Amino acid sequence: MSFPRIVIHTGRIKENAQNISELARKDGISISGVTKATCGNVHVAKAMLEGGVNSFADSRLSNLRNLRNYFGKDVTLLLLRLPMLSKVDEVVETADASLNSEIRVIEALSRAAKKQGKKHGIMLMVDLGDLREGLWTDDVMEAARFVEKLPGVYLQGLGTNLTCYGGILPTEENLGKLVEIGQNIQEDLGKEICYISGGNSSSLHLLGTGIPRGINHLRVGETILIGNDTALSEPFPGTRADTFVIQAELIEAKVKPSVPIGKVGVDAFGRIPKKPEDRGLRRRGILAIGEQDIQPEGLTPMDPGVDILGASSDHLLVDINDNPDELRIGDYLSFTVDYGNLLRAMTSSYVEKVVL
Ligand SMILES: *Cc1c(COP(=O)(O)O)cnc(C)c1O
Repeated sequence: MSFPRIVIHTGRIKENAQNISELARKDGISISGVTKATCGNVHVAKAMLEGGVNSFADSRLSNLRNLRNYFGKDVTLLLLRLPMLSKVDEVVETADASLNSEIRVIEALSRAAKKQGKKHGIMLMVDLGDLREGLWTDDVMEAARFVEKLPGVYLQGLGTNLTCYGGILPTEENLGKLVEIGQNIQEDLGKEICYISGGNSSSLHLLGTGIPRGINHLRVGETILIGNDTALSEPFPGTRADTFVIQAELIEAKVKPSVPIGKVGVDAFGRIPKKPEDRGLRRRGILAIGEQDIQPEGLTPMDPGVDILGASSDHLLVDINDNPDELRIGDYLSFTVDYGNLLRAMTSSYVEKVVL
C-alpha cells in the first residue's frame, strides 16, 4: 500500500452512469461518457460503459488513444476540445468525430480523412452565450452547408457548451434555440442530423421536466464521476459522491497555536495569507500530499473532527484536534473530491491510482 493514493470505486461510478443513462433514455437522449477528468482512465470508462453510456468523449487526443487501444474499434470516440490545426491527422486517426467551430480546421480534417480513406464526423458547435467555443447562431447554416460539401467529413451533429466560461445555464429557451437551428438546417439540407447535443452535466437538471424535444444527446462527465449537479451545485438525485477517495499519510501531529507567530509576508505561492481565527492551542497534522496533487479547497474530509487548514506544494495541513481516533504518525486520512481535485489527483504522477 502506497500513499498518497486515489481509490477509484468503479462499482459506484457504474451505478451513477446507470441512473443518469436511464433518466436520459426516458427523454430520448443518449449519453457520451466524458473521461477527461480521469485522464481517459480505462477502468473508469469501462464502468461508464457497463452503466449504459453509448460512447466516450474526451478533450485530449492522448486520452482518446488510451481508450481506443483498450476498447478497440467497437466504441465511438468523440474529441471534445476543438482540434489543433497541427494535429488533424491524429484526430482523424483516433477519433470518430470531433467538436468544431473553425472552417479552416474542418477543411484540413476533410483532407486528412480523405487521405486515410475515412469519413470524419463534425459536430458544429453553436455559442448560445457562454462565450467559450462555437459559431455565432447566424453563421451556423452557412457552415453546415459547407461541411456537407466536403468529401472527407459529414455533419454529425450540432452541439453547444454552457456553464463553462460565462456560467450561463442551459434553459428551455437557449436549448430550444439550438433545436430550432437544427430543424432549419435539416430542412435546408434535406437530411437528418444525427445529434443535437445539448451540453454537459449542467443540462441534466432539465431531464424529465424542461429539456426541449429534439435534444437527443448530452456529454456527461462530472455528474457521473462525482454525483454533482453542476447547474445547482448540489448532489444530483440518485447519484453518489464517494466514487473517488484520496488518502494521504500523516507525517507530523503536534499541538500548536492556531495563529502564526511573527511578521506576515506571503505564503508559498506569493499570496498574502488571511489571518486564521484564534482557537487557542490545537492538535494539528501534516499530510504528505500538496498542491501538486490536490487543492485544499474542495477536498472534503471523511474522518470526523478533521478540518483542512491549507496546503503548500507538498504538505496539506489539517486540524485534527476534534478527531476521536487518537491519530498517530503513519495513519492516513481520507477525502472525497470536487472536480478540480479529481482532475489534479488523477493527473499527478505522485498519486497512486487504486482501482476497486
Ligand atoms: C468537459 C466537457 C464536457 C463534460 O463536462 P461535465 O461538466 O464534466 O459534464 C462536455 N462538453 C465539452 C465540450 C467539454 O469540454
